[in-house]
Amino acid sequence: MFINTTKDDSWSVCSGVIDQVAGHEQVSRLSLENIMQHEFVGDTKDGGIALCLADPDGHSIPLFCQESAGATIEMTVDPGRGLSHPSGTIHSVVPEALGAANHIGELSAGCHCGGVTFWVTRPNAASEACSSPYPDLLLPYHSSSSANPADEKWWLRANKSKYLAGTCACRSCRLGSGSPIQTWAFIPRTNLVQSDRKQIDYGMGALKEIESSKGCFRNFCGTCGATVFWHCQERPDLVDVSIGLLRAEEGSRAETWLQWWTGRVSFIEDALDQVLIGNLQRGLPRIKVEG
Ligand SMILES: [Zn+2]
Ligand SMILES: [Zn+2]
Repeated sequence: MFINTTKDDSWSVCSGVIDQVAGHEQVSRLSLENIMQHEFVGDTKDGGIALCLADPDGHSIPLFCQESAGATIEMTVDPGRGLSHPSGTIHSVVPEALGAANHIGELSAGCHCGGVTFWVTRPNAASEACSSPYPDLLLPYHSSSSANPADEKWWLRANKSKYLAGTCACRSCRLGSGSPIQTWAFIPRTNLVQSDRKQIDYGMGALKEIESSKGCFRNFCGTCGATVFWHCQERPDLVDVSIGLLRAEEGSRAETWLQWWTGRVSFIEDALDQVLIGNLQRGLPRIKVEG
């Protein structure tokens, strides 16, 4: 909810926890912030989703490789090639994966404190065994049914070599994460394994759980607070995985594992900050989708 920097005793408020602005209930397009810069973009390697918010409303915002005070490098967006950088390479430290020897070819994931760690395996035959209605990301619930009568395995993309990924602006994600934007990858539970190679258990490590709405559960690290999973009784074998935890070599969007949906921010109609999420949706096509 807050970030306190002890060096100068400054406090930052996570803007996602703002739920009402007194006197502005009738404002049709609320805007809560004026984004001046993006910091630590270098840590993402690929620009993350800062890339999509690099020039909202037509004005460019500096993307700093690290913090904006001290030795920093400003990067600019090249629409054709994603991020460009004066040195040609964006350096970042990918946290070392734990127990990597037992997980060759798998994707490491874990929270800041290490209290929750797990691995993602590549799509395989078992990834098609589950069934699920369509998500709001693909079929807006306000205008269509989520029914999936043909049992399409929509979470498998790029000729079944990647998982679907997207952004969500619903109130539940916003208040649960503290961020107005939550990124999710849709991954079958069978493709999520613990360090001991057993399928993930929602009580593993420091993982905690709350029922955020009836039959829907959110998992987070009880120590550092990281958002980890969302899962529900309606589709117990398909799990939403918080993409910020993935530690892909190529960068924070993990594009050798995920195919991003750039056509819509899920539940954009429910966003409190309509201006921010509108800008995000307009910027999503900056993520180049390759098969
Ligand atoms: Zn943690
Ligand atoms: Zn959501």
